[in-house]
Amino acid sequence: MEYKQFVFNPIQENTYVVYDETREAVIIDAGNFSERDDAALSVFVSGKGLTVKAILCTHCHWDHIFGLDWVAKQYQPQIYCHAQDLPWIENFTHICESYGFGERAVAYPTNFYSNGETISFGNTELKVLHTPGHSQGGVSLYCKDAGVLFSGDTLFFGSIGRADLPGGNELQLINSIKNQLLALPDDTTVLPGHSISTTISQERINNPYLQ
Ligand SMILES: [Zn+2]
Ligand SMILES: [Zn+2]
Repeated sequence: MEYKQFVFNPIQENTYVVYDETREAVIIDAGNFSERDDAALSVFVSGKGLTVKAILCTHCHWDHIFGLDWVAKQYQPQIYCHAQDLPWIENFTHICESYGFGERAVAYPTNFYSNGETISFGNTELKVLHTPGHSQGGVSLYCKDAGVLFSGDTLFFGSIGRADLPGGNELQLINSIKNQLLALPDDTTVLPGHSISTTISQERINNPYLQ
C-alpha cells in the first residue's frame, strides 16, 4: 500500500490517495476545493495510471467533502460514509453559503459503513473503526498490513478533534480514541485529517488529552 497526501482548501485539510501495485486506488476525504486542487489530484491519479474505485469519507464536515461532487463526476467511484453523518451532506450547500464558500454541489453516498467492516481494493484492505465524538458518524480507517491508520479529525498530532460542533461529544471522542485507536500496535503510523502524521505510541505517551 502506498499513499500520497495533499493539503487542500482554505482549512488545510489532508486528502489522501491510497493505492497499491494493482493501480486500484481510493481517495480518503475529497477536500479538493479550487481548480488548482482538482488539477493536482487529477494529475497525480492519471500520472500514476490509477483507477479510483471509491471515496472513503472519514466524516462529512464541509472541509472533507468540498471535492466530493467533482471526484464523483470525474471517476464515478463508490462513495462511502457513515449514515450518522448524512445530515452534514444534506446541509452542505447551506453550510457553504453561510460560511462564505459560495454555491457548491455535493454528491450523495452510495454506501454506508458498518462498524468493523473491511473495504478492499486491489490487494489492500482497510478496516472501518467507528470512532464517534468529533462527529457522530466519524470513522477511522486502519490498514493492518501497512501499519497505517487514517484518523480523520478524531486524533491529531498532540491533539484531538473539536467536539463543539453539532453531534460532537468530547467524552465520547476520548473513549473512541482510548478504546479503539490506542488499542492498535504502538508503531502504527497515524495520518490525520489535518497537520502532520504521528504514531500511536507518541500519542499514548504525549497527547495531553489522553492522559
Ligand atoms: Zn471535522
Ligand atoms: Zn477537518
